[in-house]
Amino acid sequence: KAYTANTERYEKMEYRRCGRSGIKLPLISLGLWHNFGDNDDYANARGILRTAFDNGITHFDLANNYGPPYGSAEKNFGKIFKEDFARYRDELIISTKAGWDMWPGPYGNFGSRKYLIASLDQSLKRMGLDYVDIFYHHRPDPETPLEETMGALDQIVRQGKALYVGISQYSAEDTAKAAEILRNQGTPFLLHQPRYNMMDRWVEDGLLDTLQKVGLGSIVFSPLEQGILSSKYLNGIPEDSRAATEGSYLDKSQITEKVVRQVQHLNEIAKSRGQSLAQMAIAWLLKDKRVSSVLVGVSRPAQLKDNIGAIQNLDFRQEELDKIEGILKS
Ligand code: NDP
Repeated sequence: KAYTANTERYEKMEYRRCGRSGIKLPLISLGLWHNFGDNDDYANARGILRTAFDNGITHFDLANNYGPPYGSAEKNFGKIFKEDFARYRDELIISTKAGWDMWPGPYGNFGSRKYLIASLDQSLKRMGLDYVDIFYHHRPDPETPLEETMGALDQIVRQGKALYVGISQYSAEDTAKAAEILRNQGTPFLLHQPRYNMMDRWVEDGLLDTLQKVGLGSIVFSPLEQGILSSKYLNGIPEDSRAATEGSYLDKSQITEKVVRQVQHLNEIAKSRGQSLAQMAIAWLLKDKRVSSVLVGVSRPAQLKDNIGAIQNLDFRQEELDKIEGILKS
């Protein structure tokens, strides 16, 4: 059935300026790493995207190799985009990336100009788009000169294939270097996409400061530690969970007794705040204004609704923050 977006969608979400740019991102954005591949349920994937947009989520995040198989998330997104979202194109921020292994041989991986430009051309075809809003270099490449990779990002913008560029997983030091090259080239450098959640704190050790200094935003991935920071694993490992899925990046062995104990204690604090644990984990990230958006993944629309509820309570009392730190150190 034809889709018409909820007319109240922009009242349901809040938007935060991304660094010193003209772009505001929704506090919660949707990532298509999992649940949009060829082995996933198409109707469910479509339902997740509709739920997102109906609730004011204007940003969808992809990468060349999301699937499986590689490329299939972009292909399926392209199909849904054509059916449901084409007329809303100018209300959407769509991103994709290249940097991890994509096709065989020496030109389908890492950070050469050859790889990045060819990969984005493929991505645009798969998605049926003329341009993406943000194109990222997906991870640092220790062997290719940064000037070449940043030069490719610049060329992509000049070609009209992306409006802004970003980087992901770069250290604070490399981010500062990349920012300088991009500034000298006049390339619109919008944001960094790092991993950040209550249990993975590396960005607090310099990266967030660097981003603020150079005027970049951040969109943080795996905010729920792939689902661990939700009520999902409180009583064992459900069969339909990511941890139970063969070949996923979340292994059962990561759900240790210690982790479950910590999550149980965190869940008590969340309850006392009137939130689900997933909501508290997202709110906890958004308390830092240098975080422009929290990039969630969901396996069903109900999870997305739960996560969006986080924005109802973003304030923390110092006592709550101290308790959370105590639990994470226990
Ligand atoms: P999350 O930490 O949000 O984990 C998502 C998973 O957690 C879901 O698939 C679901 O798992 C579970 N979950 C989500 N919400 C709830 C809820 N309310 N209650 C219970 N369980 C919930 O993020 P991801 O690791 O998926 O990463 C998000 C996005 O970040 C990706 O889609 C991608 O766009 C981006 N990303 C970027 C990377 C990069 O290198 N730049 C790397 C990784 C991700 P289940 O299937 O068990 O239900």
